[in-house]
Amino acid sequence: MNKTILTTCPYCGVGCGITATADEQTRHVNIAGDKAHPANFGRLCSKGSALAETLELKGRLLQPHILGQPASWEQALDWVADAFANVIRQHGADAVAIYGSGQLLTEDYYVANKLMKGFIGSGNMDTNSRLCMSSSVAGHKRAFGSDTVPGCYADFELANMIVLIGSNAAWCHPVSFQRIRAAKEARPELKVVVIDPRRTTTCDIADLHLPLAAGSDTALFNGLLGFLTSQQALNQDYIDQHTEGFTEAVGCAMHTAKPSVSAIEQVAGQCHLSQEDVLRFYQWFASTEKVMSLYSQGVNQSTSGTDKVNAIINCHLATGRIGKPGMGPFSLTGQPNAMGGREVGGLSHQLAAHIDFSNEEDINRVARFWGSARIAKTPGLAAVDLFDAIYDGKVKAVWIMGTNPVVSLPNADKVKQALQRCPFVVVSDCIADTDTTALAQVLLPAQGWSEKDGTVTNSERCISRQRRVFSPAGNAKPDWWIITQVAQRMGFDQAFLYQHPVEIFREHAALSGFENNGRRDFDISAFADISATDYDQLLPIQWPVNHIYPQGKARFFEDGKFFTPSGKAQFIAITVRPPANAPDAEYPLILNTGRLRDQWHTMTRTAIAAKLNQHKPEPFVEVHPIDAKNYHLAQNDLAVIKSRWGMIIARVQVTDNQKSGNLFVPMHWTEQYASNGRMGALVNPAVDPVSKQPESKHTPVHISAYQPAWYGFILSRRELDISAPEYWVKIKGEQFYRYELAGENQPEDWQDWVRTRLAVDTQTQWQEYQDKSLGNYRCTQLIGNRLESVVFIAEHKNLPERSWLTSLFAKDELEAQERRALLTGMPPLGVADVGTIVCACFNVGEKTISNAITEKGLKTHQEVGQCLKAGTNCGSCVPEIKALL
Ligand code: SF4
Repeated sequence: MNKTILTTCPYCGVGCGITATADEQTRHVNIAGDKAHPANFGRLCSKGSALAETLELKGRLLQPHILGQPASWEQALDWVADAFANVIRQHGADAVAIYGSGQLLTEDYYVANKLMKGFIGSGNMDTNSRLCMSSSVAGHKRAFGSDTVPGCYADFELANMIVLIGSNAAWCHPVSFQRIRAAKEARPELKVVVIDPRRTTTCDIADLHLPLAAGSDTALFNGLLGFLTSQQALNQDYIDQHTEGFTEAVGCAMHTAKPSVSAIEQVAGQCHLSQEDVLRFYQWFASTEKVMSLYSQGVNQSTSGTDKVNAIINCHLATGRIGKPGMGPFSLTGQPNAMGGREVGGLSHQLAAHIDFSNEEDINRVARFWGSARIAKTPGLAAVDLFDAIYDGKVKAVWIMGTNPVVSLPNADKVKQALQRCPFVVVSDCIADTDTTALAQVLLPAQGWSEKDGTVTNSERCISRQRRVFSPAGNAKPDWWIITQVAQRMGFDQAFLYQHPVEIFREHAALSGFENNGRRDFDISAFADISATDYDQLLPIQWPVNHIYPQGKARFFEDGKFFTPSGKAQFIAITVRPPANAPDAEYPLILNTGRLRDQWHTMTRTAIAAKLNQHKPEPFVEVHPIDAKNYHLAQNDLAVIKSRWGMIIARVQVTDNQKSGNLFVPMHWTEQYASNGRMGALVNPAVDPVSKQPESKHTPVHISAYQPAWYGFILSRRELDISAPEYWVKIKGEQFYRYELAGENQPEDWQDWVRTRLAVDTQTQWQEYQDKSLGNYRCTQLIGNRLESVVFIAEHKNLPERSWLTSLFAKDELEAQERRALLTGMPPLGVADVGTIVCACFNVGEKTISNAITEKGLKTHQEVGQCLKAGTNCGSCVPEIKALL
């Protein structure tokens, strides 16, 4: 019997609503966008659309484990509670920590934070949101006195100019990007400016792209503040009535200009931009009232991240463009519940409900509400410092929830060593084998998306329900249940007696309104008495939700009142600072990192969906043609990228979308999917002095060609254990696994090497070809007339394309001409090869699109869509289709 459930996507901060039509017995679900959800109005991107394919039970953690052995929940919970209690007894509360995640639901987050800060009595609860948007939090707090996102998604459609700063929204916030694209198509006069060192797919709709030098954003926006002042494009009334600190901020912004050099010339020089482009951007900003500035990790992940945020906000305050329709600064959050984590106080410098540790009255307020005499009085350790403290032995027990810091944190090899040294590591996760679960003494099986039940908050402060679609698999439990069970065992039972997430949500809502009286922005006190039925049926709603705004509120600050002591917004005087680590002779290039279109974080879920692995199957590094020439690299070479902190090996992609002197690597690969692909190992651990957010987009590195003795690939219907060569990547396909390989030593006998790795069936028929003088070895394995595996080895990298060979795994029987062509790796004459998949939704390849363009004379991406359906679902591949056109 099918049931229809409205829920929310578990990936990015856009927070799209989903309609899930599910059959409990078969655990089959159809996923569609929720047409009524205000974040997406029915749209989903490739990741959201593929959710149904990520729910298989293979690879799930379904049973608690202690020291690698299955255990009962009673045993595991006792073990965790005892270990934490022992460490606290011997070394104090600050010797334990929780490291959470923007994947947690608000209810999970609330009880984890309450346990650590309220009852264990340490501030040591931080979260992977520290890596994501803590600079935005700090910038908001400095300017507004509160961590408030002033606007809403509807402003995208009302704006006359949208500036995207450090944001590849086309890939990282695809549905928001589709909204902007649609607005641009409806109103071509809507100006779009993209500020990013890379020419990303987001530039597809840009009227102006400013490929500024990495880390020079503060210079650009200080320059803009100076320009607005010199051009008298300020809103002086707004500055006078609603702000403080303008004179100092503008003085700081303008004083660096040398008398002999014009301000524009100086900014252009600092940012490595043309004066014409800088002037055009400044003039557009000055003359357009309805301007939205959307910013993301390119702004936040910096040692000047907080200053960048404030430099942008300064320009909006100077023009009074905030809190009104179609204008304002807007932080695009990375994770599905980054905002919910901020609401509960999940960052170590926050206490709870947008209350921090800055005054005793506030701390006592939370202590009274929680009825705790042990509340933490000072901030705890932020992520990088926390793992350093684990490494140094100061933190002796850590509980990691729903995140993979061995991959995602900077200086990730040190993080791995820290967990190897740590006396007690417990990990709650829904996936059994991650780089982090491998280091845990205790593993606790958490429920995954489709099983969890609670709330999340997206980038525009919209609270949505994430509802249970299926009953939980195995012995998986809700995170809030796991945490409260440990809390009860630690002696805090009266404060953690929850039976249902609605009870936690009510308490969270009540705390937000407790002695608030308009002093704090976050107030959802209207939900303090919500019934279980109303919670179950809760529709998306933007906070605040209280007695003044019972239906929520789209925008803050329309009245010019802020949450600072004076009630006025604060300009922040910004001094331009260089990134923490500059390139030098040994590490001459700047490494930038970021997300891909079809993968999420450390691939624990998205890599399960074969269709999401086709777009970018291998770890890669983007290199400008000049750098490729200088470092003797060619397209599809393998390269070693080294920093002072670690190394990776990645496939070279030569592209002039990259700025010369800069490299880009994606953030996703782990040791589960590649031998040397963890980008976190390279990234420098420098942090912003205010937000403590790491500088993930500016690490000095060196690149050189990796020259193995042989290259190869295996396509196999069965999953194999391929870990011997120096370079390997595992890619799950629709009916096959693909292994990309390279090694430094040729085996004595390729036939023997292959047959020990491929499961050999007695029915197997082998075809083989070997040319020892050229170092070539090829073989195919068939069972009956069905392809089982193919292997191609050579001393060079120019092996056949994989697309035709992989398509053969969809067939139960090969035709005679296909069998004959197998060892060539090329389709027989007259048989089309689809090429690399461009449209993941409809499985349409690059060659199919190119051929249709040529043969049918297609001129627009809409015509390609009509002909092949490519680009007509989520639209994420439209920029690539346009590039082919
Ligand atoms: Fe999920 Fe994509 Fe929507 Fe983000 S844009 S919430 S990943 S469907």
